[in-house]
Amino acid sequence: QHAAQRGVRWERYNPADSDETNWHLSLLGELDAAMATGQLWNAYQPKLDLASGRVIGAEALVRWLHPVRGPIAPDSFIPLVESAGRARDLTIHVLGQALEDARGWEEAGHRLSVAVNVSATLLADHEFIEVVRQALVTSPIPTDRITIEVTESAAMASPERAIAALESWRSLGIAISIDDYGTGQSSLGYLQKLPARELKIDRSFVQTVATDQRNAIMVRSTIALAHELGMKVVAEGIEDEACLQALAAMGCDTGQGYHIAKPMPANAMREYLTERPEAVAA
Ligand code: C2E
Ligand code: MG
Ligand code: MG
Ligand code: MG
Repeated sequence: QHAAQRGVRWERYNPADSDETNWHLSLLGELDAAMATGQLWNAYQPKLDLASGRVIGAEALVRWLHPVRGPIAPDSFIPLVESAGRARDLTIHVLGQALEDARGWEEAGHRLSVAVNVSATLLADHEFIEVVRQALVTSPIPTDRITIEVTESAAMASPERAIAALESWRSLGIAISIDDYGTGQSSLGYLQKLPARELKIDRSFVQTVATDQRNAIMVRSTIALAHELGMKVVAEGIEDEACLQALAAMGCDTGQGYHIAKPMPANAMREYLTERPEAVAA
């Protein structure tokens, strides 16, 4: 927030500002309108149970379809939103939309878990936790079918604080997934303390699992370790059948990736669920 405030002031006193800063400031200025008008929308990527082939969940991945600039990827606007102190508002918007869409799937007879990505800055944000607690009261799905995905590096930034924060999330009944696992240098000592239900192996390790023997060894032992610690394992970024088969053979619980399905709008997700005989129907 402070950095952004400084940025705004600097912008005022320096008319010859860089194009990039102008672009960032104008995007931020449009955030509320974008949320209100549906320019910011949730895509959903299915999470598949690898043993049964059933869809067990969907991850919400926010999209910004800008009327002038076209689609803007989350990797380029989320850091901006975070540094302007708007991560809370954006995430509440994404979660609210995800629960609404979950209601639609539920009414169509599909019992899914719904996962939302949560920025590091929100992990210990009491106001955010309070808003989520309120949202849970009217949730169309039970709380234990709601997951927050927190990156390993977010959880690592300040381990003791993160563990305490994750405990408070868990006490709400929400499941925790450690996203992009393997990229954040967490220690074995830390991993065993994490109150997470799920480890999500980063796609950089997933993608070479069928072709790189040494990497396969690492992934196989990570799966075993997570299972020993009572966690499920998700592989993200599965792009081909060989990779899918290798992970299934290693006992990886859940898979996600373009080879299974790309992120899609909520109504397409509903069709996807209907067309798949494997999909879990209530
Ligand atoms: P993530 O949570 O690790 O999400 C996975 C990203 O990989 C998504 O990119 C997804 O579209 C992409 N992906 C899925 N399958 C494949 C595949 O088979 N191959 C490849 N190459 N990529 C695949 P996306 O949607 O661009 O999101 C990027 C990141 O932005 C996410 O990484 C997440 O960290 C962040 N993000 C997205 N939505 C939100 C949000 O609502 N809040 C926050 N805080 N972060 C979000
Ligand atoms: Mg994620
Ligand atoms: Mg990830
Ligand atoms: Mg990622």
